[in-house]
Amino acid sequence: MERNGRPPLHELSRRRWDLLIIGGGITGAGIFREAAGLGLRTLLVEREDYASGTSSQSAKLVHGGLHYLSRFQLGLARESIRERNHLLHEGAGLVDAIDFVLPVAAGDWKHSCTTMVGLGVYHAIGGKMQGSPHLDRGELERIAPGLDTCYRTAHRYFEGQTDDARLTLRVIAAGERDQGLARNYTEVIALIRDRHGAVTGAEVLDRITGEAFSISARFVINATGPWSDQLRARLGHAPRQRLIGGSHLVIPRHRLPVTTGIAVYHVDSGLPLYIVPWRGVTLIGTTHIESGAGLDTPPGISAAEAPYLLAGVNALFPDARLSARDIQAAFTGYRPIIDTRTADPARASRDYGIWIEQGLMTVTGGKLTTHRSMARQVMRRITPRLVRQSGYQTALPLCQSCATTEETGFTQADRCRLEAHYGPGAVAAMLDMSPAERQQLPGLADLTLAELRWAARAESVHHLDDLLTRRTRIALLAPDGGHDLLDLIEPVAREELAWDADRWRREVERYETLWACRYAPAISGASSVCLAEAPLSRAS
Ligand code: FAD
Repeated sequence: MERNGRPPLHELSRRRWDLLIIGGGITGAGIFREAAGLGLRTLLVEREDYASGTSSQSAKLVHGGLHYLSRFQLGLARESIRERNHLLHEGAGLVDAIDFVLPVAAGDWKHSCTTMVGLGVYHAIGGKMQGSPHLDRGELERIAPGLDTCYRTAHRYFEGQTDDARLTLRVIAAGERDQGLARNYTEVIALIRDRHGAVTGAEVLDRITGEAFSISARFVINATGPWSDQLRARLGHAPRQRLIGGSHLVIPRHRLPVTTGIAVYHVDSGLPLYIVPWRGVTLIGTTHIESGAGLDTPPGISAAEAPYLLAGVNALFPDARLSARDIQAAFTGYRPIIDTRTADPARASRDYGIWIEQGLMTVTGGKLTTHRSMARQVMRRITPRLVRQSGYQTALPLCQSCATTEETGFTQADRCRLEAHYGPGAVAAMLDMSPAERQQLPGLADLTLAELRWAARAESVHHLDDLLTRRTRIALLAPDGGHDLLDLIEPVAREELAWDADRWRREVERYETLWACRYAPAISGASSVCLAEAPLSRAS
């Protein structure tokens, strides 16, 4: 056994798998969980860290997609709303309801009426909302201090909000609990085909040890999101996706202290702009940039995006006068969008697709929100009889203790949050950690050293960036990517991960290079130095 209890690759190579899933973002995670829950022998491989692709770079909303209604995509809206409601129930503590408001400018009755009709339909599909659907100026001032006084009223609705990387990790953990096996830093480097050309497995490379082995499986699933076409190209298929990047800015809460999500149309482009409170910071997004850079360049915010987003916010909150100096971090992801030849990237459909080519099933497109329903479609395609027999009872609650009143030393809200974020075993383990480690880390709203220790111990962490960008979100939540917290983090990380001083130094260098390239606010999109020049080699 390797550290963290993962079996070595050569051992996995000897087994015959029912399902090999390539890609450890939310799409692969969802399929992994459903397949393992159905009792299939399931292996998931991810070449970097889990959720290191788009699934940690989203707007972090579990949303019904109000704007799908304006494009008459009623089916997509209905499915998204159903999944949002399911996740709000199943993932309580990790997926929580958040209010959104659509401010209405004085005299803009036409827009207000259309919005009201749209929201009426949205509520009719999505179920009841607590409280009034309308806000007056006084209430608006309370939740969005400094909002331009031309906005006299607002419409209100709700969505779900989550931590996208943690959701992916928890869905993978649910599959592991059902005996599925997942491995990060394990890359598919070739597809194996039988004499008829059908895909029957893959050559995989362990990027930690450098070993390569072949894995055979009855079904091989390409869940590599934006990278799906790269894998399909190995079978000679033409691209079916287009790459549309999207960026968000992270602003310290005190500079834009909104307490609900604000949804407006950007003053220049007329495209949706969201300002959303999240874990003690405020997020501003998003953009829709057709990427010409290609996937070998890790996405970073381009020079034009930050001014565009700031202009949109400053038009709404003129007294805030946000500038580049207020940006704490930025993050960018590539949307895996199926190419339907729409001219405007913002209007390209967010629907998903599932198709099979020479035995390789590709599952792509879609959203974080609809991952479960995509996964269920996959199961229906590959094992309809098993699905019928099982009656589909695979989904276990992600959080089980939110409703209990058991005495644990944490408040019920904290216990619910911790269990939903880190799993059932985590709360008891954290109680055994020192009270000092259970205090909030300085400057952060809801993160303790105990959480970081637990993640380092139990969540397949191989690099410091796994810990700071995805297990915890210190890369986004703390100024300078958490540079000032490193002295506090060092003893915990080194103890749990058995790193000597030299390894710690190299991990810090790698993290800081990576942060500068993917998350630093003032970068210009020229981020090709990122991983290539990161101080630790990929196989270290
Ligand atoms: P990814 O998360 O990119 O995962 C694919 C994985 O495959 C990667 O981790 C990659 O390393 C791995 N991989 C690639 N090649 C190989 C290989 N050869 N071997 C092994 N592994 C490999 N959705 C919502 O529901 N709500 C939102 O608020 C929302 N906001 C968004 C905002 C932006 C700006 C963007 C870009 C997207 C947003 N989305 C949102 C959409 C959502 O984030 C994506 O649909 C989803 O994360 C895609 O997940 P995925 O697993 O398909 O892809």
